[in-house]
Amino acid sequence: AKRIVLAARPVGEPKPSDFRLEDCPIPTPGTGEVLLRTIWLSLDPYMRGRMSDGPSYAQPVPINGVMEGGTVSEVIASNNPGFAKGDIVLSRAGWQTHAISDGKGLAKIDPKIAPISTAVGVLGMPGMTAYTGLLDIGKPQAGETVVVAAASGAVGSAVGQIAKIKGARAVGIAGGKDKCAYVKNELGFDDCLDHRETDLAAKLKFACPKGIDVYFENVGGAVFEAVFPLLNAFARMPVCGLIAHYNDTQAVAPKWAPAMMRNVLTKRLTIRGFIVSDFAARHGDFLRDMSQWVREGKVKHKEFVTEGLDSAPAAFMGLLKGANFGKQLVRVGPD
Ligand code: NDP
Repeated sequence: AKRIVLAARPVGEPKPSDFRLEDCPIPTPGTGEVLLRTIWLSLDPYMRGRMSDGPSYAQPVPINGVMEGGTVSEVIASNNPGFAKGDIVLSRAGWQTHAISDGKGLAKIDPKIAPISTAVGVLGMPGMTAYTGLLDIGKPQAGETVVVAAASGAVGSAVGQIAKIKGARAVGIAGGKDKCAYVKNELGFDDCLDHRETDLAAKLKFACPKGIDVYFENVGGAVFEAVFPLLNAFARMPVCGLIAHYNDTQAVAPKWAPAMMRNVLTKRLTIRGFIVSDFAARHGDFLRDMSQWVREGKVKHKEFVTEGLDSAPAAFMGLLKGANFGKQLVRVGPD
């Protein structure tokens, strides 16, 4: 068996030496336990937060601990009456080929309903993040304008497509021509702008002639600065992620923070951070709606797969910089 552990806490951007690949024996399940084999490992931006030990909503990964992560796994041995050999389960097995579980927190996946990898993608945590953040906080109305960055990614792609289903205008922001073309032509957003080109603010103003009613915040940084002046009165801003800042080594308040607060007041803006687990009660609604939209082709999704557990560190470092084009997955073992 193999596992990847956190070798050192990154300073700024994570680097290869912050991870260590280890060989280990395949563990033996005890009474009430199951042995899992990882098929798919999901890589997600939140893992950058787990590598640091600053204050957060979750515990950090300890040094020499297995990197945390959601997986789609197969039960290959079971001493637990709730699970049989051959069951496919959603697990938090982390960056390793094999894991032991007492069954708590495992959810069975029915491979007949959808490809099993979607359980960590469009029908899993990122899809649920898009659904709840947009509908429960953003509350887009027909005819309103919704803007989302990282628009070709796991969360952003679903945000814009759900906005369209609700009758809103969807404008994406993504890195590079290919991603922007995909977001417009394949996902059906009304427009998509490249944040790596110049004059994002002016282009955004042109693409949003009636201003912005919902800004689904995934990135922060220069994108946020371009969006903020265009927010309409009573605009809503679900704050989902700030990926442009995850490698920052210190927090600096911008000089325009007071001007921003003045706008929050005068425009009566709603800015609300959320963690997807806040909306656990909405999981049934999410699965019902999202499965239907995926079946009907109203929500499309794209996977970006690297092969083998060894590829995880490089793929994760790439994810933080936009090297992924779609939901980042690692194929750890055969389906
Ligand atoms: P993505 O698949 O969207 O991948 C991350 C993308 O972020 C990159 O591909 C890149 O896209 C974009 N990006 C990176 N740096 C920058 C930058 N400086 N400026 C603009 N864009 C940048 O990841 P996810 O869909 O999984 O996650 C999207 C966001 O949602 C993240 O911030 C994540 O932390 C957050 N999230 C929050 C959750 C919550 O519960 N609150 C749950 C899940 C995700 P591009 O090439 O287009 O720039």
